[in-house]
Amino acid sequence: MFTLETAATAAYVVAALLFIMALAGLSKHETSRSGNTFGMAGMAVALIATIALAISRHIEPLGIALLVGAMAIGAAIGLWRARVVEMTGMPELIALLHSFVGLAAVLVGWNGYLHVEGDLSGAEAAVLDGQNLLGIHSAEVFIGVFIGAVTFTGSIVANLKLSARITSTPLMLPGKNFLNIGALVLFFALTVWFVITPQLWLLIVVTALALLLGWHLVASIGGGDMPVVVSMLNSYSGWAAAASGFLLSNDLLIVTGALVGSSGAYLSYIMCKAMNRSFISVIAGGFGMESSGAGSDVDYGEHREITAESAAELLSSASSVIITPGYGMAVAQAQYGVADLTRNLRERGITVRFGIHPVAGRLPGHMNVLLAEAKVPYDIVLEMDEINDDFDDTSVVLVIGANDTVNPAAADDPSSPIAGMPVLTVWNADNVIVFKRSMASGYAGVQNPLFFRENTQMLFGDAKDRVDAINAAL
Ligand code: NDP
Repeated sequence: MFTLETAATAAYVVAALLFIMALAGLSKHETSRSGNTFGMAGMAVALIATIALAISRHIEPLGIALLVGAMAIGAAIGLWRARVVEMTGMPELIALLHSFVGLAAVLVGWNGYLHVEGDLSGAEAAVLDGQNLLGIHSAEVFIGVFIGAVTFTGSIVANLKLSARITSTPLMLPGKNFLNIGALVLFFALTVWFVITPQLWLLIVVTALALLLGWHLVASIGGGDMPVVVSMLNSYSGWAAAASGFLLSNDLLIVTGALVGSSGAYLSYIMCKAMNRSFISVIAGGFGMESSGAGSDVDYGEHREITAESAAELLSSASSVIITPGYGMAVAQAQYGVADLTRNLRERGITVRFGIHPVAGRLPGHMNVLLAEAKVPYDIVLEMDEINDDFDDTSVVLVIGANDTVNPAAADDPSSPIAGMPVLTVWNADNVIVFKRSMASGYAGVQNPLFFRENTQMLFGDAKDRVDAINAAL
């Protein structure tokens, strides 16, 4: 028979399919807009179905009003934040949103405990006991609270690091690996204990343990590895949502959580490969990575400076130019000037291409989005692997607000905290011009010997100003 409940269940299947189509769409530039539209449509269907389900289960009017009110307030805050956030503030906003998923999973877990294990003589516990599912429920509560709490504090630390409100250098507590492993062993032991005899104090202890572990895991990871951390927390938030889905018997939450969890894990894996990092080592809070702070005290000699006019002269006599943008281009919003400069140089018959490092900026694809926004043709925007061999035959490289992603220490200095990370080998070109405001280090906090190389000249100032000045001089 057709009921509101069956309609809502069918709508959940449609929403799950729309989410899968959203992920498929987001995997390519050309289809990313439609991917976003599928995602929004899926979420709208899911929200309406959830309200319909609540009505069909005869939830009291106050409950429905609270549900609708919470959705309206959440939607209003979400719309407001999405409208005002700067592109450079996206990663920290995403980290904050992950923390909400974690917190929700903790609250759902605690709620599950209070209704079942905390009220063993109640109706819900009796039903589960009758089906022999009480132990499974206890495990779901415990694991859900653990994953949720790790995600919650981990995401808050990520937000603080990305917004530069705390330092991005890794926290190095003595025996940090033992602390992490010890916390995991304790979690397994407490889970077994809780499944056998569910008690409130065990839940309190695991919540506190997971909050501390989440904080410590992310605090121990250095700035250079933050991209992987953000996608890893994305994955954790998916598993936390899936755990909540089990507790709430909500299939859509389980499917969506699993989609987010597995795609986030895969993205973390791809980024680890791109940065030549061990996946296990990063998810284990920087296991085996010891920060030496190398490079900070080394005297690399003097740097040389160049003016916008001389840079324009150098560019007009070049035959090929590669532009490697980084986070500073996003801060300065220099992409429009860079697009004009590109057009200008190409009209003079100079070959201009872009080299994009996989973790340039502050979120995956950050530079591609900015360049597309400024209408730079896709076919001259190349990935690091596609362009790295071409620097030898390049007259001028313009490093616009990039730093860690063009740091030769990653390739030459095994004691550097970013050692082993593949970088754009810009120093192989005839001339390198670095656009930045000072000699300050990049996000990973590591000094950059590129600035002191013979063929490098620094063009100090805001990247947008300097690019505009070159355009004017040309
Ligand atoms: P970096 O963050 O290493 O360096 C950016 C440089 O831009 C700074 O040295 C800064 O120097 C300069 N800059 C800032 N503002 C301006 C401005 N207005 N005008 C001119 N220059 C400016 O950039 P990269 O893109 O090379 O590297 C990205 C880093 O971020 C990597 O360490 C990566 O691991 C990390 N990261 C990446 C994420 C991702 O998903 N892509 C996510 C999180 C972190 P100065 O202050 O002197 O101007």
